[in-house]
Amino acid sequence: MAPIKLHDKTFDSYLSEDTIQTRIRELAAQIDRDYAGKRPLFIGILNGAFMFAADLFKNLTVEAEVSFIKLASYSGTKSTGRVITAIGLDQDLIGRDVIVVEDIVDTGKTLAEFLPQLQHNQPASLRIATLLHKPEATQFDLTLDYVGFAIPNKFVVGYGLDYDGIGRNLREIYQLSENA
Ligand code: 5GP
Ligand code: MG
Ligand code: MG
Repeated sequence: MAPIKLHDKTFDSYLSEDTIQTRIRELAAQIDRDYAGKRPLFIGILNGAFMFAADLFKNLTVEAEVSFIKLASYSGTKSTGRVITAIGLDQDLIGRDVIVVEDIVDTGKTLAEFLPQLQHNQPASLRIATLLHKPEATQFDLTLDYVGFAIPNKFVVGYGLDYDGIGRNLREIYQLSENA
């Protein structure tokens, strides 16, 4: 596919629609097996994960629930540093098998700060499904249970991920061009 231009930058095509959809079907099959006889609760992190969460959910056969939250970070006191809060978390998580659905894990800071908060709600289990992971960039100790693609440490857009607000509608994933 041809390169695209978003705002001031050029992006090269990186993961095709077919490659993404094939991998998501594999992940869904794996989750079906792992959660057989259970009723997992998927929590998608908006905005980036909306497309991945929808396609993953469509491919599941296990009985499951889905909900979405937004994470907002603000500066706390000096001692607490940056504080992340979940907006829209209305479900009771006690005893539930929770799967957090993310678009991408980069440094890992967001999830490293947010997961302990979810653990406070006493789920029976807590796992992470992320479409993309940048292993070279990750600085926090996270167990990523379901990973679509491990990718190099380059900025990507498309399939839910944006560059300054645009590009989320793209069916493919694009990578910032080297010679941009
Ligand atoms: P982390 O806390 O893991 O460093 O960052 C996670 C968030 O940063 C992601 O959920 C995503 O919103 C954003 N992010 C990280 N890398 C990229 C990237 O390559 N492209 C886009 N569009 N967003 C990214
Ligand atoms: Mg995200
Ligand atoms: Mg963004």
